[in-house]
Amino acid sequence: MSLELQGIGVSRGIAMGRAHILFRDQPDTPEYCIPPEHIDKEVKRLKTATKIARKQLKAIRKKIPGDAPADVSAFIDTHLLMLKDSTLTKIPANMIRKRGCNAEWALQLQRDSLVSVFEEIDDPYLRTRKDDIDHVINRIHRILSDEETSIEEILPGNPKGAIIVADDLSPADTVLMQNKGIAGFVIEHGGITSHTTILARSLGIPAIVSLPSARRYIQDNEPLIIDGTSGTLIAGATLEISNAYKERLLMHRSHLYSLSRYKTEPTQTLDGKAITLLANAELPEDITAITEAGAAGIGLYRTEFLYMNRSDPPEEEEQLTVYRNIVESMHGAPVTIRTFDLGADKTVDGGRSSIMAINPALGLRAIRLSLNQPTMFIAQLRAILRASAYGNIKILFPMVSSLQELAQTQILLDHCKSELDEEGLDYDRDIDIGIMIEVPAAAICAEIFAEKVDFLSIGTNDLIQYTLAVDRIDDHVNYLYDPLHPAVLRLIQTTLSAGKKHHIPVSMCGEMASDPRYTRLLLAMGLEHFSMHPNALLEVKQIINETDLAKLPDNTLGLLNQADSYQAEQLLLEINQTT
Ligand code: PEP
Ligand code: MG
Repeated sequence: MSLELQGIGVSRGIAMGRAHILFRDQPDTPEYCIPPEHIDKEVKRLKTATKIARKQLKAIRKKIPGDAPADVSAFIDTHLLMLKDSTLTKIPANMIRKRGCNAEWALQLQRDSLVSVFEEIDDPYLRTRKDDIDHVINRIHRILSDEETSIEEILPGNPKGAIIVADDLSPADTVLMQNKGIAGFVIEHGGITSHTTILARSLGIPAIVSLPSARRYIQDNEPLIIDGTSGTLIAGATLEISNAYKERLLMHRSHLYSLSRYKTEPTQTLDGKAITLLANAELPEDITAITEAGAAGIGLYRTEFLYMNRSDPPEEEEQLTVYRNIVESMHGAPVTIRTFDLGADKTVDGGRSSIMAINPALGLRAIRLSLNQPTMFIAQLRAILRASAYGNIKILFPMVSSLQELAQTQILLDHCKSELDEEGLDYDRDIDIGIMIEVPAAAICAEIFAEKVDFLSIGTNDLIQYTLAVDRIDDHVNYLYDPLHPAVLRLIQTTLSAGKKHHIPVSMCGEMASDPRYTRLLLAMGLEHFSMHPNALLEVKQIINETDLAKLPDNTLGLLNQADSYQAEQLLLEINQTT
């Protein structure tokens, strides 16, 4: 009899293979007292374990294939940096000295204190960074307790083609498993924005996360099928189910292969409407994937990643180097740099020095924080302006909700321009400025904003969240997170109309733009500029190039009036099936 379990599909594709169950639970964290005369030895024990952890990660880093996406080494580097940070070196060592406790316990206390800060963070991406803390601390714990330290050691034999089922996996584990040729993985924990998940996507490994107790229901070596899109796991499938999935697997492979021909084709609908496909980026290393996917430019460069994992904000010169390198490597294609979208609880030092806001999503974040911290903001504006002398840069401001914010921002920008003029430093005097439309207020008033800026960019991730009052990673309510909700669609429509009226481009850079299910609908609504993760680009391009706008069902825009989500899904299906 077959068994079907449902988790969250985070890395698309189907994998079929034997289950390889990993029983590697959390390492022990014993607590005991260290006599004063042995304190130095205990601190040394901790230091040595941290050193070994660094060595292990460096060795894993070397195993990353040369053609692997940039994320892969970036995530290992993040863990290496954490192992150097005083929060994981000095503070636990001081605890050993002060409390006279063992290294495992000092690390555990520090882990709990760091994780409690991250758990308060509103931003889902930053919140899941607590997984990184756990991965790094678990590694040190395992070294301290002399347990197996790497997946390599606990994946004996030949796991080629196996589907790994584990409680959790670190990015380093994922790299090692990829080297061993696993077909996919299922983990009991994890979320859609964890580094392990992002890595699985970059490496093209089908994966399911958040499937609690998976190891209780599945037996080692049992045949499994996982669907990394829907999050479905089937154990002991019947011949019929198995054959159906084999067929889907073959179709998926040939589909991926057929996408490569779109790399060099222009992006336009069958009836000749030209569409711009841009890419979202977070790290300078993303540029290779962006140019390889044939993106027409960068529609969203998230700069907050420059400010994370460090104690001080980056200085103007450091930022200038980063932005200049990016724009130069894009060879004249537009690069939209978004000023930092940090919040009250996610400042440069991870929020440790700031007061926790009661409701951080509605607090001092993004442009609000920028205007509250003008010195930091000015350093960034100057760096972006100076980099604009080397290519085609546009500036994008996040979370703008009022005209006053825009006016204050403009004053600071003008101030930076005059300073640069006085200093004789070059910049693009006609640099375009735009705002993110991600707060309902901004969408409703898009027409007012459109008069004052050069472009608008719709951030559906936040727009949906704020419009529907749904925290998208809160399991209790995320069934309400619905891009097809007519309230969301109407706000998108209002924004597109505003752009049209004032003859300025409107792009969409939230996840909705990268989901091929919504491409036709967005085209029908008049969206002409899409920005997304480079991995999604060719699939969206294929849909655009195979769509005849005139042939879409007459009631396509009826979705704007469809409050019944079942009916809305049906209509979407009809739109997507039209040939
Ligand atoms: C968005 O909100 O849609 C967006 C693109 O911004 P971020 O995901 O960085 O919040
Ligand atoms: Mg946003």
